[in-house]
Amino acid sequence: MEWRRKIPSWRWLLWAACAIAATVVGCQTVQTTRGGEVGVDRPQRMFALLSPAEVEAAARQQYLQIVQGAARKGILNPDAKQTERVRAIAQRLIPHTAVFRDDAPRWQWEVNVLKVDQVNAWCMPGGKIAVYTGLIEKLAVSDDELAAVLGHEIAHALREHARERMSRQMGTAVGLSVVEILMGVSLGDVGQLLAQSMFVLPNSRENELEADRIGVELAARAGYDPRAAISLWKKMMTNARAQPPQWLSTHPSHETRMRDLEAVSQRVLPLYLKARSS
Ligand SMILES: [Zn+2]
Repeated sequence: MEWRRKIPSWRWLLWAACAIAATVVGCQTVQTTRGGEVGVDRPQRMFALLSPAEVEAAARQQYLQIVQGAARKGILNPDAKQTERVRAIAQRLIPHTAVFRDDAPRWQWEVNVLKVDQVNAWCMPGGKIAVYTGLIEKLAVSDDELAAVLGHEIAHALREHARERMSRQMGTAVGLSVVEILMGVSLGDVGQLLAQSMFVLPNSRENELEADRIGVELAARAGYDPRAAISLWKKMMTNARAQPPQWLSTHPSHETRMRDLEAVSQRVLPLYLKARSS
């Protein structure tokens, strides 16, 4: 029958239209942040249908699970004074995120310390921060150094480096059909991509240098000595007990990083001195 043959051809047309649409809307170039004094201005390629809101929703959910899991295990904020210290530093840094993007100061920031014996810290999209006791204790970090760590991790979130990596993963995604993409990726898939991006895949050298630069500026503006980033990385390198965390082992070479940190910390030094004197 005539009409029966028409149905597959209409379907085929629909699929073809979808494929074209997916190609067109697939990727877009965005600027997640303003450059700041340190001038981070690389345009970023993002998968258009992976919205910041979707990624943030997945991050919120995952962070809640992590925090609840930590509470159950008795490793959430083991020392009230320590938690207070980390939160106080984060609270001083957060208002200065406005330099880089307007929405960030209004994010639902959360800061928790996890009793984990690793030198590590992270900030999920939308401002969900965790600092491990291993970092605070093994490196005996000063407030300035803690500000350097927090600034660096916050910078990753401001630049939406997680979404950028997820976009890259989706671009090469195996098994993500055009139709799946157009119908919207389910939150489960987004969650999986996010977890991989946050905890499995390393950041690129480029992203690390960006996080270093923005982090140093955030610290300086909040009145923390930006040169502490240098002493922090030196401690990391010389502390034999400190297993290099992912965000260190995959990072730019030590020399490149040090050179860059020296240069940018000098550039933002006036901001620090101004913050100290006001
Ligand atoms: Zn990093």
